[in-house]
Amino acid sequence: MAVYKIVEIGDEILKEKAKPVKNINANIIKLLDNLADTLYDAKGAGLAAPQIGVSKRVIIVDTGEGLHELINPQIISAAGQETDIEGCLSIPGLIGDVTRAVTVKVKYLDRHGKEKDLTAKSMLARALQHEIDHLEGILYVDRAVNIRKLSQKE
Ligand code: ZN
Repeated sequence: MAVYKIVEIGDEILKEKAKPVKNINANIIKLLDNLADTLYDAKGAGLAAPQIGVSKRVIIVDTGEGLHELINPQIISAAGQETDIEGCLSIPGLIGDVTRAVTVKVKYLDRHGKEKDLTAKSMLARALQHEIDHLEGILYVDRAVNIRKLSQKE
């Protein structure tokens, strides 16, 4: 387990389409653990493997209700629309307004290779959409309006 340096905007890996995980082996388990260590160290709400330099389809999210680990996540349904503030650990000091689905259902594999699904709303749904975008090489600033410096007030 280790805290990694988070890759920042400008690095090519953040623009790449991450590769699907074929075998859930010790390396993938280690990757999940390293992502969690790095996320909690940075006090973020979510992190995708490319953000620690690994171009694989692995994300984690924790919006305050516990850790979710998702391997090969796929949004299988989405509903509603909501605009809210977003930031990203790979783009320090900035925030923007992003319109996303309010509810999503995501299909994924857990660390034991079991197929699962997760239905999420609001903050958790937003974090999942943000992290899954990272796997497609999409950053929130590609979707955001009113990108601005993070002030103490927000
Ligand atoms: Zn991000």
